[in-house]
Amino acid sequence: MVHLLSVWPQIAERLKAAAHIWLFADFDGTLTPIVQRPEQAILSENNRQLLEKLAVLEDVTLGVISGRAITDLKELVQVKDIIYAGNHGLEIEGPGIKYQYPIAQDIQSLIRALYKILNKALSGIPGVIIEDKGLTISVHYRQVDRNRIKEVKDIFTRTIGGLKVLDKVRITKGKEVLEVRPAIDWNKGKAVKLFVKRSGKAKRKENTVPIYLGDDSTDEDAFRRLARYDNSITVFVGSNSQKTEARYYLNSPDEVTLFLQRTLELLQERIR
Ligand SMILES: [Mg+2]
Repeated sequence: MVHLLSVWPQIAERLKAAAHIWLFADFDGTLTPIVQRPEQAILSENNRQLLEKLAVLEDVTLGVISGRAITDLKELVQVKDIIYAGNHGLEIEGPGIKYQYPIAQDIQSLIRALYKILNKALSGIPGVIIEDKGLTISVHYRQVDRNRIKEVKDIFTRTIGGLKVLDKVRITKGKEVLEVRPAIDWNKGKAVKLFVKRSGKAKRKENTVPIYLGDDSTDEDAFRRLARYDNSITVFVGSNSQKTEARYYLNSPDEVTLFLQRTLELLQERIR
């Protein structure tokens, strides 16, 4: 994998030549550092301003895509006129787009019921945080005693097991988080495809540069999806030794900030 900033001159040339840039970024671990509890994540003022300035550029479409519920995500980012995709893209909102994946009512009720059951089943283990995100559930175990993590996973698997067999729900794993999602074929990659299509800019595919920044296993679907574009710049945020489908990497959210900054300067320069 190539370090994105180490090949900056090359990247800069491509960005300068682009007719349009889609810039998609994950939130936790990408725009913000990973924190102990999900509610502690704060977007730095610097990053917010960078996003705001990028969002007003005509040649840029900016989207933040996260496993968080969309209401939560909007609250945390608070940048106007960008695309928000919550619950891994099951809910999308932005200029000219409002979308919710059609999930049957009975599945939604099932997810709600599962949330209660999981709460009860895991209540004896300190540090577990169970998040009801409407269409999905997250079970965070970052704060759980290392000796008890297996117990969390076992209880989780046992609780969800039967429904998984019935194909009602599916399980995904992230950084110290287990997730329950409706058993539908939908992910960040498909969400990215959807908003690229709806933005009406797909026609100019040759001159379009899609950029995607993400740090977690759920971002791999987006990396894979965008690999179909010769021009795409897919960026894994984290260690170079991680197995990923991304073409480039950045070491940390701080380096993401640096990249956003350079990109902004370059594009502002281009306008002048
Ligand atoms: Mg993340």
